[in-house]
Amino acid sequence: MEFNLDSLVRDNIKKMTAYSSARHEFTGNASIYLDANENSFGSPLPDNFNRYPDPLQMQVKEKLSNIKGVPAQNIFLGNGSDEAIDLLYRIFCDPGRDNSILLPPTYGMYEVCAEMNDVKIKKVNLAKEYQLDIDAIANAIDPLTKLIFICSPNNPTGNSINRADVEIILNNFDGIVVIDEAYINYSKQRSFIAELTEYPNLVVMQTLSKAWGLAGLRLGMAFASQPIIDLMNKVKYPYNINTATQLLALEALDNIDWVNEHISTTVIEREKLRTELLNLSNTETVFPSDANFLLVKMKAARSIYEQLCQKGIIVRDRSKVVLCEDSLRITVGTPEENKQLIEELSKLKST
Ligand SMILES: *Cc1c(COP(=O)(O)O)cnc(C)c1O
Repeated sequence: MEFNLDSLVRDNIKKMTAYSSARHEFTGNASIYLDANENSFGSPLPDNFNRYPDPLQMQVKEKLSNIKGVPAQNIFLGNGSDEAIDLLYRIFCDPGRDNSILLPPTYGMYEVCAEMNDVKIKKVNLAKEYQLDIDAIANAIDPLTKLIFICSPNNPTGNSINRADVEIILNNFDGIVVIDEAYINYSKQRSFIAELTEYPNLVVMQTLSKAWGLAGLRLGMAFASQPIIDLMNKVKYPYNINTATQLLALEALDNIDWVNEHISTTVIEREKLRTELLNLSNTETVFPSDANFLLVKMKAARSIYEQLCQKGIIVRDRSKVVLCEDSLRITVGTPEENKQLIEELSKLKST
């Protein structure tokens, strides 16, 4: 394969000049800042809320760099992973011309962002045991295919994608391979962030929304070669991560013990929940999961979903999703929540 980043990038993105903010042009330490039309008197809030935030979030990245073992210049931070997904389309895909390969059933935002950006999608359904159909993917790739999205562990199926298959794609596709590792903390599989130096076409996405318990903070990460990260920084809004998010992220990132403890608990609860779900008469299959949820095939899934809603327990109905027929996606709750779920499920009728 012949990977050439320059030839993948849209012309307008290559040619454009990035916005140069006041906070970008001067990065040293000064005592008087009269360069950004901020309110010199401060703000009603504490800290530095009258100042524009660091556009490149260097403090947060330094901390993440230590945790992840990836240099700061290989990290992009976005307003959730969703921002990274959108930016990749905008950088690499000419609207109305280029295409991206998606592997259903998978995370919905890959398709939403493609449609928003008028990027064609080619769908190659997952094969046996929700693994990659390597031959079908190879056949779907054409000269205008710029991106392939691989979600591992996959949402909504929960399984990890076989590493050897992902490596085949990385080694043979000369576009960008995006591996979405939103659930990697719950998995026994190794993250691909250790392979960044190996693959110039690799983008790994992670997020603070799941194991870090910070879905409300909106902080997503992308890890890639520096030229790709530079492109993402060029195209993003200058102040995409606000001061509140940066400050709270710095605080949260000191609590890795909290995260690890809850990962262990979640994995234990997941396996307990699997056993209990399998004991229910309505359950047909509980698919293997490396994530913080279980995909469960049930008799009359839709009806069970509705009955649970009436009891105030909301799960995700995936029964209309391709290859997830009759299946519900259930997030692992606290021990008490899981107990209540099982109690209600065992009382339900199957019709
Ligand atoms: C939850 C989830 C995310 C997280 O998205 P954020 O925008 O970072 O909250 C990303 N990818 C997948 C597959 C997910 O399920």
